Amino acid sequence: MFINRLTADKIDELNKRIKECKKCKLSKTRMNAICGEGNLNAKIMLIAQAPGEKEDREGKMFVGPSGKVLDELLKSSGIKRQEIYMTNLIKCMLPKYRKPKQDEIRACSYYLNEEIKLINPKILVPLGYYATCYIFQKYGISLPSKAEFSSVFGKLFLAKDKKILPLPHPATLLYNSDLKQDLIKS
Ligand code: SF4
Repeated sequence: MFINRLTADKIDELNKRIKECKKCKLSKTRMNAICGEGNLNAKIMLIAQAPGEKEDREGKMFVGPSGKVLDELLKSSGIKRQEIYMTNLIKCMLPKYRKPKQDEIRACSYYLNEEIKLINPKILVPLGYYATCYIFQKYGISLPSKAEFSSVFGKLFLAKDKKILPLPHPATLLYNSDLKQDLIKS
C-alpha cells in the first residue's frame, strides 16, 4: 500500500513531540505518553479518551481489557486493527481513571488536530463522552444535554468533509454487555 513519505515523517515528528511533552501536569504522573498508531492511509480514525494503566505501562494503545472489547467490536464489523488509525484525545494516563479537565483537553487537543490533518480520515469515531464532545465542538455539531447524550452513540453525523460516528467507550462496554451486544448486532 502506498504511504505518503511526507505524512509518515510528519507523524514521526509529532510522535516525538508527544513522547517528550510536558505541556500539562499529566506529564508528572504518566510513565509513557501514548502516540496514535495504525494505518497512515486509514479511512477510519478511532479517538479514545486517554490511555489506561496497562497502556501507560506498556506504551501502546488498547492493550488492556478495553482493547479486547475493541477487538471484538472491530471483528464483528469486519474491520481489522491494521486498517484503522487509533489515537486518544488525551495522550497521557489520567490518574485513577478520573475525568479529563478542560485545561488538559485544551493543552493536548493540538496533537489530535494535527493527527486528523495529517491522516485525513473520512470517518471519525470518537469513543465516549469527552472525545465525542470535543469532536462535536470542533465540527460545529450541537451537543445534546448530558442526560440525553447516549442517544448520539451509533448515529452518523455529517460535518464538512467528515462523517462522525460516536460510539460508547469500550471501557463502558466492559460493564454493559447488553449495550455491547446491541452494537455488535447494529
Ligand atoms: Fe502533553 Fe497531552 Fe501529556 Fe499533557 S496529556 S503532557 S498535553 S501529551
